[in-house]
Amino acid sequence: MNNDKEQTIYDFDFSLLCEYFSSIERQGPGSEEMTKLALSFIDGLTEDSKIADLGCGTGGQTATLAQNIKGRITALDLFPTFIDKLRNRFANLKLSDRVNGIVGSMDELPFSESEFDVIWCEGAIYNIGFKHGLEYWRKFIKTGGYVAVTEASWFTENRPEEIDKFWNEAYSEIDTIPNKVKQMQAAGYIPVATFILPEECWTDNFYTPQKGAQEIFLRNYPGNPTAENLIKYQRHEAELYSKYKQYYGYVFYIGKKISI
Ligand code: SAH
Repeated sequence: MNNDKEQTIYDFDFSLLCEYFSSIERQGPGSEEMTKLALSFIDGLTEDSKIADLGCGTGGQTATLAQNIKGRITALDLFPTFIDKLRNRFANLKLSDRVNGIVGSMDELPFSESEFDVIWCEGAIYNIGFKHGLEYWRKFIKTGGYVAVTEASWFTENRPEEIDKFWNEAYSEIDTIPNKVKQMQAAGYIPVATFILPEECWTDNFYTPQKGAQEIFLRNYPGNPTAENLIKYQRHEAELYSKYKQYYGYVFYIGKKISI
């Protein structure tokens, strides 16, 4: 196996993926209203509070957080392009003094124990898995602090095979809401709230804005199989969502760290 060659192909895919997703406002389903709703379950935040926003992307939800709470936010993402965009966004919003964007991995956090009042993560914990993420992040949260994440979840016990197969290949940890809540409790958090993100978070805020971006992207990379496959996959995912949305979606899970 030629690792150098593999690395090159991977780098190319990686930069295309980054380019595609940086051209849209959000990199995952969500909305300002839902971020604010999740925040409403979190009490005791002051200007001295510290919040980490992991897998922040270009900072859609980070902006809502910054505009609705007083503390300082550290926004972390693996992709440098996203962090550059996030920094520009907060420079324009004149909020750079309270929001610090850093490149890093949510699986290897450069933070101290009990550093944060809140760890936030919208549409990104799947990268390291819900269970592992909750367990690993716990030590970085103060006792009495919170974790708030969105996670792909099944709404029913059973579902058609086509969608079951698609999700199990994409993210095998997808599970029902009661099972996710159980994992959160087992990881040392009180499950304070869970709620399902409404459909517009997927359609109006995520899939619809991608339509224009896909046309532009394909025009920029005519005949490029990697680009074409990427768009084909995104379109397939959107079609499956409209066909099977009664069976799954994103759920906000908010937990409070207790001493165990
Ligand atoms: N929270 C944003 C982005 C969600 S998309 C939103 O809702 O719009 C998932 C994000 O996770 C991407 O920005 C991706 O770059 C990031 N990511 C993937 N693996 C990561 C890792 N190991 N550590 C940190 N971020 C990661």
